[in-house]
Amino acid sequence: MTTVSSIHTARSARSARSSGTDRCTVLASEEGVPLVTGERVEYANFDYAASAPCLTPVAEALAEALPRYASVHRGAGHHSQVSTEAYERARRSVARFLGVRSRPADAVVFVRGTTDALNLLARAVPEGCTVVVFESEHHAGLLPWEHPASRAGRVVRLPLPATPGAAVEAARTALRGAPEGPRLLCVTAASNVTGEIWPVGELVEAAHAEGARVAVDAAQYVPHLPFSLAETGADYVALSAHKLYAPFGSGVLAGRADWLREATPYLSGGGATRLVTEHDVVWNDLPARHEAGSPNVLGAVALAAACDTLTPRTQGSLHIRESALLERLRAGLAGIDGVTELTLWGDEHPRVGIVSFTVDGLPADLLAAALSAEYGIGVRDGLFCAHPLTRHLLPEGHGQAVRASLGVGTTREHVDRLVGAVADLVARGP
Ligand code: PLP
Repeated sequence: MTTVSSIHTARSARSARSSGTDRCTVLASEEGVPLVTGERVEYANFDYAASAPCLTPVAEALAEALPRYASVHRGAGHHSQVSTEAYERARRSVARFLGVRSRPADAVVFVRGTTDALNLLARAVPEGCTVVVFESEHHAGLLPWEHPASRAGRVVRLPLPATPGAAVEAARTALRGAPEGPRLLCVTAASNVTGEIWPVGELVEAAHAEGARVAVDAAQYVPHLPFSLAETGADYVALSAHKLYAPFGSGVLAGRADWLREATPYLSGGGATRLVTEHDVVWNDLPARHEAGSPNVLGAVALAAACDTLTPRTQGSLHIRESALLERLRAGLAGIDGVTELTLWGDEHPRVGIVSFTVDGLPADLLAAALSAEYGIGVRDGLFCAHPLTRHLLPEGHGQAVRASLGVGTTREHVDRLVGAVADLVARGP
């Protein structure tokens, strides 16, 4: 049996390096993580899809902003001015990162994350809008349209499509068959369960041909690949900072300004208002209209630093590196008896660095716990907030799966350790 010490060759990995991307490193604890044996090992983080650790340039940007943060757009003091400037600079960085269009100008609204962004959009769509979604969506893309506060009039849930082409045809048919009036397709760019990349360009083309708009949940896509509103033609995009190597509490909804401008402010309160009298409220224009309350300036600064670091060139290099690690992991897992990878569109379909799998005879929660306690490996187990998709893909006899997701700090040693650990645990038996 492979021992823990043989798996973990000593590494002075304060941060992980990626080829040609020297500044693109993630923070990691020097002391490692404890095992049941009392030994400490470098943490092998395979949970990037849940939340990615902070990039070094993000930590630096935060450290610089921290001593001076103040409420934005409200004060004449120096720190207020500096913070206002940093906040609006952050908006421009995010706009660049997402290929925001200038004519007609897209809005970039800071929110708390993807869930928040899509809930905001659900309240901003024109009253009675038909919204089409696939059952495969993360709950953040699946459910907001059905919330009592949503303005969607009709929600069409499409079954899991057997192929990417079938997805495009199903969306086209559903949008064509919808009643006259505004229509929106909401679709993920990359699945948080299988990592599979959705045919966003084709879906946008089909939807636009039917006079509908498209909102893209890019939470799992942008940490791996560049996404551009201008290039895809998508109408809206949502993302979360904590999946993009910046801390929690910040995210973005970007896209067509008209629906957002006409909608009642998402939250009521200061900042969203231009004038409040005894009898009336005059709401602000975008983006302040949907950013009521004191904005998360540090969150925006951190998110912008991640966006500035992850240039298309850097993401290109990272993707090449990550794809090699992903293939090594998938090949390793495929060689272990009883391991089944979850996939909607098969082995060859392009994907980002996410693999969900089951192991016969080893319940997912026990497997995840053993990987952590005995090998210092962090994975996620469960149904991944995408219950319809995950339940559909689970092999007979399994109620949950394990998800291993890769990112900037993933190394070959991590991959080999994970494969070796699963093989060990299978050999040891239930
Ligand atoms: N969409 C996808 C594809 C996700 O993976 C997640 C998070 O797991 C979300 C949306 C929700 O993101 P957040 O929890 O940051 O709002």
